[in-house]
Amino acid sequence: MKQNPQSGKKILEEAKRSRRLRQVLFGSAFLVLLAAGWFYSLIGYFIPLCMVAGVGLAAVRGRKWCNWMCPRGSFADSYMKAISPERRMPRWLRGTMVRAGVIIFLMSMLTYQIVRLWPDPYAIGRFFVVLLTVTTVVGVFMALFLHQRAWCSICPIGSLSSWVGRNRYQLTMDKDACIDCGLCVKICPMQLAPSEMKKGETMSFKGDCLKCGLCVKGCPKGALSFP
Ligand code: SF4
Ligand code: SF4
Repeated sequence: MKQNPQSGKKILEEAKRSRRLRQVLFGSAFLVLLAAGWFYSLIGYFIPLCMVAGVGLAAVRGRKWCNWMCPRGSFADSYMKAISPERRMPRWLRGTMVRAGVIIFLMSMLTYQIVRLWPDPYAIGRFFVVLLTVTTVVGVFMALFLHQRAWCSICPIGSLSSWVGRNRYQLTMDKDACIDCGLCVKICPMQLAPSEMKKGETMSFKGDCLKCGLCVKGCPKGALSFP
């Protein structure tokens, strides 16, 4: 569907505003939950709940959970974006080896601690809170030196969702309509390049697409769409 560049800009700004509002809400809820977890450790169980919800949704809609439903992803976009230099994320950071390594390391530690602390639900919940705090601190440093969504490149929930949902609800392009202006590349919050599809290529790291739809709204030629 072709669109007027001016109305396209307005539509994009509106979409960004509504996404940002949801992210501020969920990002703030994340900070409240994290702080509350230190006083009431059972709150830590929201981590496995997020994992099931995120990966479960990925089986149908790809990595949509990470757009604004993930409290930490929302925290990254709503709070960390303001203080991040937003550098280009290196490709190796999203490579399978790095991601698999992070998953194996964190899951091994989690399994060891659950076995060690079993059957005390409060102690296990406390461990989840510690894990969430430590990984959030790592994510904040990655945001400060690299990009606000750099943690999302290696987050276990994000990586699993990216693999499970790689071929779900895919972004498509009308190659004849695309003028290769590169706007979609500038818009994408995950530093993906939808314009790669113009050459008939698959978009690199397409499993990391958050289905935010910003590139669809921002394309001046209406060349991008979801099913
Ligand atoms: S898909 Fe749209 S925004 Fe992206 S390069 Fe093509 S015309 Fe530009
Ligand atoms: S490719 Fe488009 S829909 Fe996917 S994350 Fe980037 S801007 Fe959002």
